[in-house]
Amino acid sequence: MSNANILGDPNSTTPARTSGGWIADLDRTRHAGPFLAGHASAGQGMSTTAVHAGTHDDPRTGAVGTPIYQASTFVLGENQYQSVEEGFARDRFIYSRYGNPSQWAVQEKLAALEGAESAIVFSSGMAAITSTVMALMDKGAHVVASSDLYGGTYNLFNQEFPTFGMSCTMVDSYDFVAIEAAIQPNTQLMYFEAITNPLLKVIDIPRLAEIAKRRNVRLVVDATFAPPISMRTLDHGVDVVIHSASKYLNGHSDLIAGVAAGSRKLIDMIWPRLLNYGGSLDPHACFLLERGLKTLAIRMRAHEESATVLAHYLEAHPQVQKVFYPFLESHPDYATAKRLLKNGTGNITFVIEGGDAAALRLVNALQIPKQATSLGGVESLISLPFNTSQATFTSRQRSNVGIDPGCVRLSVGIEDAADLIADFEQALAVTYSQKEMSHA
Ligand SMILES: *Cc1c(COP(=O)(O)O)cnc(C)c1O
Repeated sequence: MSNANILGDPNSTTPARTSGGWIADLDRTRHAGPFLAGHASAGQGMSTTAVHAGTHDDPRTGAVGTPIYQASTFVLGENQYQSVEEGFARDRFIYSRYGNPSQWAVQEKLAALEGAESAIVFSSGMAAITSTVMALMDKGAHVVASSDLYGGTYNLFNQEFPTFGMSCTMVDSYDFVAIEAAIQPNTQLMYFEAITNPLLKVIDIPRLAEIAKRRNVRLVVDATFAPPISMRTLDHGVDVVIHSASKYLNGHSDLIAGVAAGSRKLIDMIWPRLLNYGGSLDPHACFLLERGLKTLAIRMRAHEESATVLAHYLEAHPQVQKVFYPFLESHPDYATAKRLLKNGTGNITFVIEGGDAAALRLVNALQIPKQATSLGGVESLISLPFNTSQATFTSRQRSNVGIDPGCVRLSVGIEDAADLIADFEQALAVTYSQKEMSHA
């Protein structure tokens, strides 16, 4: 591939993907999304895709890897003026809130991983969610959503929607009859999460997609807990897949980002919301996200390996009452997980004897997992719903959503399983010896 002329030849008619003259040939009628002359190649494995898709080796210097285009704005030329005039500014570099080469590179990688035509990155998962939902709903519209939504999304639907005359009905994501019954004449969207938090229910996305299609409603799925190595969400009939890229996609607990992926048509509808709400991702954060994504496939395998060993260990432990891990046969969604997920993840939820007081002693005694919310990083993170994610609930409300006293959320990192087990062994011993001491 000759990439000698990075800015392309404005008079060239050669397709950009082969010539490298990508600036000259970006045309929304011919391309699925704006892209650099990267290495996207259909049909390759997920690891190859994660490493190579979208990545733009610098043609001027030969430097391997996408440069960080740390620019807020771009020199205006004939092409830029014309694209603004003709309304396809998404396909040109004008100003970095609109688009930036560092964003395009990581967007193309994400689109390739999800099997999407197009993707947009955002400055947070919530920016992706807000922009997507607002783009796909008119004033006064209604959404049918899961009753175990991520807290930020729950707040968006409950606190922001009334301002726009929008409304939401929350339903049990296992109850397909109730889901369908909740669809009203003004329902424009069904909004669900692929794997819920904290009980790690694996939702039957193909069933939801069937309902959405038949009832002519769009289906948006937050697949933060099921990155594309585990599930290619769009393959199951979903219209737009969203991720908090702060979690598994980036995988190193060092940035906040989000992504929405789907057809070019829908992503083009979401893009103006990105401009209006302003949640664009900084070029340096794009670099970090792209670098993190390159190891997504091997990280996910390592998360699964350590989490599987630890889940079995916990399940066999006498002081552990329940373990929720979708690849344990005891999990209510084991069959669905086997059917839909190609790879496990690092999330385990478990309940220990002695309630929240014992759970607090446990997290304090552990040496390796850090007490922190979030998930999907290379380091194990642990937190308790009662004093973090569901802290505003009463204990009765917590039990209504299936969170028992002593419930622990664990995001297993990529540490060696033997070290994690040794740590849990000592911490559980400390937890219950302290109990005896306090009773003495
Ligand atoms: C973290 C998270 C979000 C929000 O993402 P941010 O990057 O923190 O804005 C949305 N959905 C789920 C399921 C999450 O875990």
